Parts: sequence; C-alpha cells; structure tokens
Amino acid sequence: MPTRIRGKRTPDGLAPVPPSQVDSPPDDKSAMVSLSASRVFSQWLAPSSSAQRVRASQSLLAVLIYVAFAAVQHAEVLAGLVDLHASMWLSAFYLGGSLGFYAVVRSGLNERLGSDPSLTLPQMVLGVLAAVGSYAITGPARGAVMSLLVLVLVFGMFALRPRQARDLALFACALLGATMVWKGITDPARYPPAVEAVHLLFAVIILASVGTLTARMAVIRARLRGQKADLEHALAQIRLLASRDELTGLSNRRHMNELMAIEKARQRRTGQPMAVALLDIDWFKRINDTYGHSGGDLVLKTFAQLTRDSLRTTDVMGRWGGEEFLLMLPDTTATDAMACVDRMRTQLARLSADAIAPGLRVTFSAGVAAVNSADEFEAAIERADQAMYRAKVQGRNCTVVA
Ligand code: GH3
Ligand code: MG
Ligand code: MG
Repeated sequence: MPTRIRGKRTPDGLAPVPPSQVDSPPDDKSAMVSLSASRVFSQWLAPSSSAQRVRASQSLLAVLIYVAFAAVQHAEVLAGLVDLHASMWLSAFYLGGSLGFYAVVRSGLNERLGSDPSLTLPQMVLGVLAAVGSYAITGPARGAVMSLLVLVLVFGMFALRPRQARDLALFACALLGATMVWKGITDPARYPPAVEAVHLLFAVIILASVGTLTARMAVIRARLRGQKADLEHALAQIRLLASRDELTGLSNRRHMNELMAIEKARQRRTGQPMAVALLDIDWFKRINDTYGHSGGDLVLKTFAQLTRDSLRTTDVMGRWGGEEFLLMLPDTTATDAMACVDRMRTQLARLSADAIAPGLRVTFSAGVAAVNSADEFEAAIERADQAMYRAKVQGRNCTVVA
C-alpha cells in the first residue's frame, strides 16, 4: 500500500500488532505457569472469540444430551433392563468425558491442542464409545441405542473432513460388530446371534449411508470455503483497482477526493492547519515526443516512486491528471508544505534519469495553498492550480505559494 492517511505503515500493509497481543517468552517457569493460569481463568470467564463461544455452547449441548441419555439409562435400571453397576460405570465415563471436553473448551486449552480446536473427532469418538457401551449393557431394549450412533455421526456432518467421516463410520461399525460378536458368544440368551447378525447388517447400511453423506457435505463445505476465499480476494482487488492509479500505483483522483473529505472532517474538529500542492511535470509533452509514450510512462512511474519514498506517512500523494499530481499534507502550514515540495525537487534533481534516457532531466512546477478550516478543498486546489500556473510563467522548476 503506497499511501495512507493516518497511522503507521508496515511493509506488508498490515497494521502492527499491539504489544499486548504479542506472545513474549516469560522470564522463568513460574511466570509461565501464572501467565497460563491467568489466561485459562480469563478464557473461562469470557471466551476470547465468537468461535470459542460457539464451541463452548456446542460442548455444553453435548453434556446436556449425555445427561438426558443418563436419565433414560437410569429409568432402564429401574425397569430392570440394565444392571445398576454397569450403568453407573458407563454414565460416569461419558458424563466425565463430556464435562472434560467442555472444561477444555471453556479454558481455551483446545486452541493450543492442534489443528481442530473444536475437538470434533475426539468428542465423536466419545459418543461412539458411549453408544456402543450402552448397546452392550442395555439387553432387550438395545435396538433404540443404534439410533444414537446415527445422532453422533450427524454431529460430525458440519465439521469433519471426508476422510475423518469415513474412518469414524468404519470405527463405529467395527466396534459395534465386535461388541455384537462378543455379546452373542458370552450372553446368547439376551443377545441371540441371529438377532445380532440382523442388527449388524442394519447398522452397516445406516452408518455407511451417514458416513457417505457426511463426506459429501464436507466436499460441499470445502468448495464453499474456496468460493468465499475467491470472492474475498476479488473484492480486495476491486477495492484496490477502484482506489489506485494503474500506472503509478498512487491514489487515483476518486480516492483522493474520498481521503480529502475524511481529512476535512478531521480538520473541522481539530482546527489543525493543512495544505495542498499541485505538482506538474515540466515540458512533459517534449519528453513524450523525444522518448516515446513508454519513456513518458517510465518518467511518471519514477516520479511517483520518488514522492512515495520522500513523504511522511500522514501525507498523501495522488495522480490528479495526466502528468499532474496532488499532494495533501495534514497538520502542515503552507510554508512547511513549500519546504516539503522543494525537498522533493532537490531529490528529483539528484536522481539520475539517465537510466530512462541518457541526458534526460526531469523537473516540475508546483503551486501550494493552505486549506483553512472554513475552506472547501476545491477552493484550495483552485488556488494551488493558479499558483502552479504562475510557477510555469516564472520559468518552471519552482514552487509558488498562493
Ligand atoms: P508544461 O511544462 O507547461 O506543463 O508543459 P507540458 O508539456 O508538460 O504540458 P502539456 O499539458 O502540454 O502536456 C502534458 C502531456 O502529458 C500531454 C499528454 O499527452 C501527456 N500525458 C498525459 N497522460 C499521460 C500518460 O499517462 N503517459 C504519458 N506518457 N503521457 C501522458
Ligand atoms: Mg499539465
Ligand atoms: Mg506539464
């Protein structure tokens, strides 16, 4: 980004990171521990981002579903369908696991654990283990438990990658199949092998379908993400094209008008002085005639580069017309603006234009005008234009203050 109104400029055009956001290595181990502890605590009180809030609420939803699941399981115990001890162990496992995931997300630790801060896959593995565990202890009422496996996989539809979705469906099938074989052998009265075989076939069909759908959803999501990135890139390009002059990379006239309106509003509040300068390259037609249009273009580019390098970050230079440039200098009096323009003149004189064409010397004439608080910009630019015309009349290669 060649020009900006206010604030610091960084090489890549991004705003500098405030020191408070920079991770500095703590001096010793205890400092690191207290730093982490305070971070975890503040994360717990107020999640750092909306993404974290969504993750926390999803983990909490999972905890609530497990609580409901545990309540139903307890009802099955009361109905004599499920063994009390087995039910207690299993519910302790999944309630503890889901609360653990919730705690990790609320503390912000999930953001430091790897590439999936939502912890979708591990949370789903817990879900599969809970559902299959429930199948193993529920006995005659176990048919309904299979639908829980589908519920677990549906959760992954919005987050898993295709490969993860397929692997999870395979894992669920394998675990359920192994459990059915085990129960069919060790407890054939409650788990008749023929019934288990039918259950397994249905489970394979359902899990394969949900796994395939999840994988397809993941492909669609990836395509949408790509399209969104393309659109954002295109929008940034359009913004750039709309504000920049293609040849010189300086702000174009339209963008200059926008920037001046912003600066004017600021000046009305602060009452600070401001100045504008119009710079017009001398005898540019001759340059074109002698060195061709491409030689002239190169002179314009070189001139723009020179001005870019010699201005403060708060000053803005734009291409106003063919070989005419407008300089806006906030917080600057007309006298200081004249000194600034003459500094540019000295630098241009020092710059050898031999690289463009041997013997070529480039100069410019400038008109400077103060922008008073009561002034509109147009009036100040008009005065700068008249002053620039006087500089031409006075013999060119000089600056006149209006
Ligand atoms: P003066 O010292 O009085 O300003 O003389 P001049 O020759 O610079 O002024 P004039 O306005 O007569 O000529 C400006 C020339 O700039 C005419 C136009 O063809 C040329 N020009 C305008 N835009 C471009 C451009 O983008 N590239 C090139 N190479 N030439 C341009
Ligand atoms: Mg001109
Ligand atoms: Mg000219």
